[in-house]
Amino acid sequence: MINFDYQRIATAKAAVDAKAKSASAQFIAGGTNLVDLMKRGVTAPEKLIDINGLPLKQITADAKGVMIGALALNSEVAENVVIKAKYPLLSLALNAGASAQLRNMATVGGNMMQRTRCSYFYDTTMPCNKREPHTGCAARQGQNRMHAVFGTSTECIAVHPSDMCVALAALDATVHLISAKGNWQMLFTDFHRLPGETPQFDTNLQKGELITGVHIPANTFNKFHYLKIRDRSSYAFALVSVAVALELSGNTIQKARLAMGGVAHKPWRLTAVEKFLAGKPATPETFTAAASMAMEGAAGFGHNNFKIKMGKAAVNEALQQAVQKI
Ligand code: SF4
Repeated sequence: MINFDYQRIATAKAAVDAKAKSASAQFIAGGTNLVDLMKRGVTAPEKLIDINGLPLKQITADAKGVMIGALALNSEVAENVVIKAKYPLLSLALNAGASAQLRNMATVGGNMMQRTRCSYFYDTTMPCNKREPHTGCAARQGQNRMHAVFGTSTECIAVHPSDMCVALAALDATVHLISAKGNWQMLFTDFHRLPGETPQFDTNLQKGELITGVHIPANTFNKFHYLKIRDRSSYAFALVSVAVALELSGNTIQKARLAMGGVAHKPWRLTAVEKFLAGKPATPETFTAAASMAMEGAAGFGHNNFKIKMGKAAVNEALQQAVQKI
């Protein structure tokens, strides 16, 4: 690891000012991904700006929804009584991620900013357009079992690794940001990017902007499920995951929200499936049709072709599990 400067700051304004003064400075909170990246030489910021002293840990609920501070720990959010009672999909997704130790360190903002776990991205001896633009993508012809089947480009086929973000995408969350120009908001589904020609950028966060929190609007969903399929039952990234929130009235689906993880460079919202499900009976036939629709347009790269069949089965299973929950 190369030497770097370290600065603790106490206000959001001081944080964005400090970041603006340095070309490669990065914010650090839990550091559960950033420190790994620095140790491996994937990234080498000249300065770390420690934001742990900022007053951004609160979880505040009202009739309009819940505001979660960017520095709230993943474990605190997962166990929060309001989140468990009113937004259980988020709690389920958080508890499916990483390990208990990591959830005790990782923050909401850091979870959103974590980078892909593509093994070539972490191996500095291999070409990788995300780590070093215009060097190539080793995964396209290499080991791509964990990689994307939606929204890929010739430059990059990596997936976004978060579980929390899949639930937040499904729940119509909004990201709250601050920069030198003031405070503003962005739809959560606009926060992460597809790789396109510039896979080095994971998000639409601009230089000098700091995430201050995430807001989830109040909702009328009464059935939820987060299904994560992975190689082992804990501390593993998703091969495929599905977040489902349904408003069920009798046996009729009034409203549906679905997003998938492990299949794209960003949480993959299934808006066409949501429209299809609205007004339909919650039957096996409906779920089978929805699952087929979910994977339309998916394309694998060899080792990850299984994700198309798995994704279909996962959407079907997640819908069934959601309606079976009391
Ligand atoms: Fe790099 Fe993306 Fe290719 Fe992985 S998939 S090697 S992150 S360019």
